[in-house]
Amino acid sequence: MRHTSLLLLLVSGMLGAFNSYAQDSDTPTNKVIHAEGYTYEFQSAAAPDLSEWMQKELAPVVQEWYPKIVKMLPSDGYEAPTNVTIRFRTDMRGTPASASGNRINCNAEWFKRELNREARGSVVHEMVHVVQQYGRARRDNPNATRTPGWLIEGIPDYIRWFLYEPETKGAEITARNLSRAKHDASYRITGNFLNWVVQKYDTNIVQKLNTAAREGKYSEDLWKQYAGKSLQELGDEWKEGHEQRFANTLSDDQKKAGWKLLFNGSNLDGWRNFKTNTIRPGWQVKDGILVCVDPKNAGDLCTDEKFTWFELQLDYNISPAGNSGIMFHVTDEGQRAWATGPEVQLEDNEKARDPQRCGWLYALYQPPDDPKTGKPLDATKAAGQWNRIRLVINAEKCEHYVNGVKYFDYVLGSEDFNARVEKSKFGKMPLFAKSNTGYVVLQGDHGEISFRNIKIRPLGD
Ligand SMILES: [Zn+2]
Repeated sequence: MRHTSLLLLLVSGMLGAFNSYAQDSDTPTNKVIHAEGYTYEFQSAAAPDLSEWMQKELAPVVQEWYPKIVKMLPSDGYEAPTNVTIRFRTDMRGTPASASGNRINCNAEWFKRELNREARGSVVHEMVHVVQQYGRARRDNPNATRTPGWLIEGIPDYIRWFLYEPETKGAEITARNLSRAKHDASYRITGNFLNWVVQKYDTNIVQKLNTAAREGKYSEDLWKQYAGKSLQELGDEWKEGHEQRFANTLSDDQKKAGWKLLFNGSNLDGWRNFKTNTIRPGWQVKDGILVCVDPKNAGDLCTDEKFTWFELQLDYNISPAGNSGIMFHVTDEGQRAWATGPEVQLEDNEKARDPQRCGWLYALYQPPDDPKTGKPLDATKAAGQWNRIRLVINAEKCEHYVNGVKYFDYVLGSEDFNARVEKSKFGKMPLFAKSNTGYVVLQGDHGEISFRNIKIRPLGD
């Protein structure tokens, strides 16, 4: 493999050196273009039916964008390849396009399907790889750092989707892909993140990261140096912006899967204070967020509807030392909501005083110890940040998740469950956890807390 590509490099280098020879080799399936000091060779022998498209449609894009990309990604003493070969192939299996040295390979079958959609943009992406040449640092310097793959692929997709074809909006974060929106998710998702950092913090960051990568000097510290915030901070802030944009909405997939919004983002329809038909003024809706602004005048907020077996997901953001909770299977029989419904504790693990920690089933179940800290597993983010709770409350098994991390599972009414209730303060409450159906209740009298994206999906029958 290696020898082959070396040989190809040599051959294409020779083609560059003998331009007149290359010029003479023009055939219906082979076209050589010289422009602005660059030589492009378009080879379509493997897909003659694409020759016309390649020469009329693709060649102008290559001629315009290759020099642009070279200018976008300069570094001291570096000269990008001046000869670029673009070739249709029929042996690429599922890969749409690839780049190796100064050669770009295009999967003829895939291109035929994508001529009017992704075809040109994929070549722009590969041209960025031809210009990147990050492998050269390690050839010259054994101590060169490695640039992470997500960034190597994110830069071409940033240039492709945000500079070459922004009108296609092909790298948007949507309700559908929001859950996969991580800064290091690579390709167009990382492209979106890079675009955001460019717009918000440092216009030249892509150029600077490219230089570092090419010189074997990439390190995560560079983000802080260039943008003033760590990569993690930037990634969280970027993701949070998209989360807020799609807060209190359901994607089509979620609707199909049976999810329903418990909070519509604009008012408190579907809620009331426990055992009343009113809502106290301590609960307010602000900018799409359900906020407990005054815990002394809020009380427990209760759904109108009862739920039996379900999956519940919500985001909460708690104030320093704040304490709240989510109760389920709450009925009207008890004096207080907690007299009937088990409570999933919510609190600021850092400063709140209650030894029952966030995500625990109050006084009954807690996550195992984290070997790294020797303390119970804690996946919460600090007070003031959004955290996601996911509960699966099902007859066979209940599960608690905090920010995607599973804490534990249990079976309501099982021997183990009943034994734990017996030992706890709930042992003296005859109605506690006895109902298999009931309201969902948000605790409002222990501290300031905000909620959004409160959604539920009934399970079973
Ligand atoms: Zn790529």
